[in-house]
Amino acid sequence: MSTRPVISVVAPVYNEEPIIDELHRRLAAVLDSTGEPWELVMVNDGSYDGSAEKMRALVERDPRVRVVNFARNFGHQNAVTAGLDHARGDAVVIIDADLQDPPEVILQLLEKWREGYQVVYAVRSERRGESWFKKFTAKLFYRLIYRITDVNIPVDTGDFRLLDRQVVDALNAMREHNRFIRGLTSWIGFRQTGITYVRQERFAGQTKYPLRKMIRFALDAITGFSYFPLQVAIYASLILALLAVLAIPVVALLRLSGSNIQFEGQATTLVVLLLVSSFQMFFFFILGQYVARIYDEVRQRPLYVVADIWECQPDSAGPGGTEQIGQKVDSAEVGETGEK
Ligand code: UDP
Ligand code: MG
Repeated sequence: MSTRPVISVVAPVYNEEPIIDELHRRLAAVLDSTGEPWELVMVNDGSYDGSAEKMRALVERDPRVRVVNFARNFGHQNAVTAGLDHARGDAVVIIDADLQDPPEVILQLLEKWREGYQVVYAVRSERRGESWFKKFTAKLFYRLIYRITDVNIPVDTGDFRLLDRQVVDALNAMREHNRFIRGLTSWIGFRQTGITYVRQERFAGQTKYPLRKMIRFALDAITGFSYFPLQVAIYASLILALLAVLAIPVVALLRLSGSNIQFEGQATTLVVLLLVSSFQMFFFFILGQYVARIYDEVRQRPLYVVADIWECQPDSAGPGGTEQIGQKVDSAEVGETGEK
C-alpha cells in the first residue's frame, strides 16, 4: 500500500508538450523538500500534441503522478474541477501547467496552511512576459468583478491557490456549469488568506486563452456571481423615460412659440430608433447570457467526460515490483452534475 498523499497538486494540461517534464521536475524538487507524501494529478484536457505520450511516460517513471484523460477539450475550469475531484490529499494546490506560477511558491502556501488557513490564494504582484493587452484586460476584469459581485473575490488572483480538504469537498459538491472556480472558493468561506508572487513568463508555447475564451470566461464570472447586468436595464429605462418626459414640453413649446428651430422628422427618428434598438438588443444579449446558463443547468449534462485514467496501481505490483499502469475499468467516467 502506498501512503495516502498529504499534498495533491492539480495541473490542467492542454497542449503543453514541451513543458510537462520540466513541470514535473520543478514540482518534484519542491514537494520532495517538504518531506510529505504527495501526488501530482494532471488533467489532459483533450490535448492533440504529444502531451499525452509525455504524461504517460511520466506515470511509468513516477508512481506519484496520475493522469485523467478527457474525451475532448472541456476547458480549463472543467479540467481543474476534474483534478479536484480526483485529488486525494489533505491540501490541494491548483497550478497552471505552463510554469507561470512558480512551484516554489507552494512552500509559502503550505506555510499558511500549517498556520491554519484553509484557502491560501496567490496574488500576482507583477505579470511577466504577457502582452499589454492581456495585462490591461486582466486588470480591468478583476476590478470589474470585484465591484459588481457580492462575493469578495480578491483582485489579481488566478486559480493558483491551496485548498484544504474541507474546502475541496465543499467545492466538489457544487456541480454548477460555466464555473468560475476562484469565485466559488471565495463564496465557500472558511479562513482565507493571500500571499503575493511574481507571475512568470510561460516556460514554452503560447497562451491557450484566445480573446474568445477570455470573453466567455469573463461572462461566466459575471453571470455566475452578479445580477448587476440584469438590473442595469432599469437605469437605461429610467434615463430614456426621463428624456421622453422632458422632450414633450420642449417640443410643444417650440411649436407654440412659433420658433424656427425644427426637429427634422425622418433623420431624427431614424437615429433615435437605431440608438434605442441597440439598447434593447444589448439587454436581449444580457438576458440571453443568463438564459443560456440556466439551460446548461437544466440539461444536467456532466461537466466533463473521462476517457481513461493512467495511474500506477499498487495492487497490481508483481513480486518483482514491476508496477503496471492501470487503465480505468469502465472506460467512460463522467463528472456528475447532480447531487450524490
Ligand atoms: N488549459 C486547459 N484547457 C484549455 C485551456 C487551457 O486545460 O482549454 C490549461 C493550460 O494548459 C494551462 C492553464 O490551463 O495549464 C492556463 O492556460 P494558459 O496558460 O493558456 O492561460 P493564461 O496563463 O495565458 O491565461
Ligand atoms: Mg498561462
